[in-house]
Amino acid sequence: MRASLNKNQPPMKQEEIDQKFIRRTIALSEVALKHDGAPFGALIVKDGKIIAESANDSKGRVSNHAEVLALDSAHKKLKTSDLSGCTLYSNCEPCPMCSFMAREYKVSRVVFAIPSPFMGGYSKWDILQDDEITQFKPFFSTPPKVISGIFEKEAMAVFKKTPLWWIFGSDAKNNRPTRL
Ligand SMILES: [Zn+2]
Repeated sequence: MRASLNKNQPPMKQEEIDQKFIRRTIALSEVALKHDGAPFGALIVKDGKIIAESANDSKGRVSNHAEVLALDSAHKKLKTSDLSGCTLYSNCEPCPMCSFMAREYKVSRVVFAIPSPFMGGYSKWDILQDDEITQFKPFFSTPPKVISGIFEKEAMAVFKKTPLWWIFGSDAKNNRPTRL
């Protein structure tokens, strides 16, 4: 991507900003694949700046999903559990555990590349958009805005290096092998 040092350049559109950060999550998923065997990467961004970023690290602890690590790290850095105004970026749709955590941390936006129709906290169990838990204030706030599918093909290229790639992606239900 071209460096934007020219002050006369128009500011980046939200879509371009989202693309830039999704690219970073895909790079992190490559790192996670090498070290953890599970290709997941996540960022927490506020006002256009990366507050925290993490690759999956679930070998020692199954709950060390990239999103959990990034959310906790942002909590520590910002010294507050109220992450409203923050965006959670992930190369893959957050699972139910991470989606619930995103709701508790009150993130304002969740942006990801690959949908997860078998295990997602949005397309399978709709935790991210569940408005019922919103009423339990101050523990939860309004559902975050969810944006899916940015650079899905590029993100899937990393997943295709794993045997269970077919579980993820918009075509997951069609890609399911007839015999497991
Ligand atoms: Zn998760």
